[in-house]
Amino acid sequence: MATEIKKVLHMNEGSDETSYAKSSYIQKHVLSLTKAIKENAIREIYCKELPTTLCMADLGCSSAVHNTLNVMIDLINTVEKAARLAGKRGQEYQVYLNDLPGNDFNLIFRSLACFEDDLKKKVGVNYGHCFVHGVPGCFYGRLFPSNHLHFVHSSYGLHWLSQIPEGIEDNENNIYIARTSPPHVLKAYSDQFMKDFTSFLRCRSQEVVNGGMMIITVLGRKSLKLYSKQACYMWDLLAMALNDMLLQGLIEEEKLHTFNVPQYPPSETELRLLVEKEGSFTFNQAQVSYVNWEPMQNYNNSNKVSGHYDFFKCMRSVVEPLIKSHFGEFILEELFLRYWKKIQVSMENEKNVFINVTLSLTRKV
Ligand code: SAH
Repeated sequence: MATEIKKVLHMNEGSDETSYAKSSYIQKHVLSLTKAIKENAIREIYCKELPTTLCMADLGCSSAVHNTLNVMIDLINTVEKAARLAGKRGQEYQVYLNDLPGNDFNLIFRSLACFEDDLKKKVGVNYGHCFVHGVPGCFYGRLFPSNHLHFVHSSYGLHWLSQIPEGIEDNENNIYIARTSPPHVLKAYSDQFMKDFTSFLRCRSQEVVNGGMMIITVLGRKSLKLYSKQACYMWDLLAMALNDMLLQGLIEEEKLHTFNVPQYPPSETELRLLVEKEGSFTFNQAQVSYVNWEPMQNYNNSNKVSGHYDFFKCMRSVVEPLIKSHFGEFILEELFLRYWKKIQVSMENEKNVFINVTLSLTRKV
């Protein structure tokens, strides 16, 4: 099962209307909310180490060029300011962009010419050298040599599990952790997350230098209870659309029963306990933030808005490859039309938010 997820999980490629690159406004907004915590961390590690070559990685970078590359530009800009204060010139950077092999790396590579221009515009022409590398591979295994990275960033990647939890066949018409899921299904999801997150920490503990830092943001939950409507509702609506199609004989029951979304929304407390138990990193702080499904409300714009199509497109760009590989291409248009309608009704009647948990961790010396 694990290899299957690695093979099929990727966001919608390319740069057309249905692509992740064009639709991921939620993830982009999350990155803006975590700008300060990332910049403080990279400044801290840079000033402590003053490395000749600063090595940093974005894990689960996806193909939304502006999301991942703008993070890197902001981080380099922060270091350049600190370098100037320290009287250093010609700082070198190794930037690693990681995702699963199915990710649209070509789109990122094609944007690198503009990246250099954007970097010069922001930082000035005298910034030394920046070497960018693509790293296709699963972040639950080793990706880098030992003692190599000074700074690791990952946003909205680590709530994705390495596999569908085992023993959840009786989750039946649910496709995720749902209000009606049996307790052992919730536990199987949480156990799989514990296993994956611990592997992630263990691998990074080998790769991050002593004193190196990681800033990790996941889609999470606030409550200690394993079921939280805020964290699950977007998948409840997709399950409703699939169940409607089942009732009309448009998909097979067996197909629906075997489809589960490989995601888990951890709470801050769970993350802290896992970091402490694994033991290689100091837990500096956690920050909880919120993103509204409604795009304009994230910018305090109180105009009457109708962002349901934007939210729908964002969700579709994330889940379409999984749906396609499990159910086949033929259900896509019908299913997504139904999903969009469910999203529309929900957003007209209630305010929905995603909860993000951001962690700041330091590799113990
Ligand atoms: N960080 C980007 C993308 C978030 S989408 C942004 O903020 O816009 C999550 C990304 O994590 C996807 O591209 C997905 O392929 C990647 N991902 C999920 N599991 C992964 C794994 N085990 N190893 C590497 N990348 C993974």
